[in-house]
Amino acid sequence: MASRKPFVAGNWKLNGSLELLNEMANEINAVSGEDVDVALFVPALLVGECAKLGVKTGVQTVSEFEAGAYTGEIQASLAKDLGAEYALVGHSERRHIFGESDEVVADKFVMAQQQGLVPVLCVGETEQQREQNETESVISAQIDAVVRKLGVAGLKQSVIAYEPVWAIGTGKTASPEQAQQVHQFIRAKIASLDSEIAQRLLILYGGSVNEKNSSELFAQQDIDGGLIGGASLKTDAFISICESAKG
Ligand code: PEP
Repeated sequence: MASRKPFVAGNWKLNGSLELLNEMANEINAVSGEDVDVALFVPALLVGECAKLGVKTGVQTVSEFEAGAYTGEIQASLAKDLGAEYALVGHSERRHIFGESDEVVADKFVMAQQQGLVPVLCVGETEQQREQNETESVISAQIDAVVRKLGVAGLKQSVIAYEPVWAIGTGKTASPEQAQQVHQFIRAKIASLDSEIAQRLLILYGGSVNEKNSSELFAQQDIDGGLIGGASLKTDAFISICESAKG
């Protein structure tokens, strides 16, 4: 079986500051290495600074357009030039607050990858969808939108983050068993198209991960690390989450 290197990424959303970045960078660089990769998805205006500090850097979204008259959008190629390695696509806040459809998210995935960024595709169901037993169909549709554009090979240079919408920023974490069940479903779905890609694919869990629950979540067979929101703004908590991902 292919071994997968754990990956922990902080998503600062519309939070954080240059000061916090300077404060955290050394500690992140000290923990990131052979046993775990650690990255920060900082607000777009901090991307260049974050990369200069030697921290693996991501943008929180990119435009699906390469260039043109799209005021305010984030250009994937420019994020790459500034040193970003990753781009979040389809974070639930983008889907639900900004109305991004599976189709638009897939276009952003394509653009990120075309410009040399590793897309981190966020997928997940709402509470109502879970109650109606739609978790698997919702996630399938979110992944299929990308596979329709690029084939399963498009998932080779990518990461998937399973983030149940009901667990994001709510303090309600999925249990390790609930999360593992969905991660296993995602890996099996992709394995039905290409088993090698599925075995190598990093699938992160996100949704109210903190320093108390991370070890148990990361110990699950198909959970390869986490996407961390609130707790990534607190240096001690975030570093301890990163430590807990080391094999
Ligand atoms: C997120 O922003 O992707 C997230 C999982 O947030 P939180 O950890 O705060 O739930």
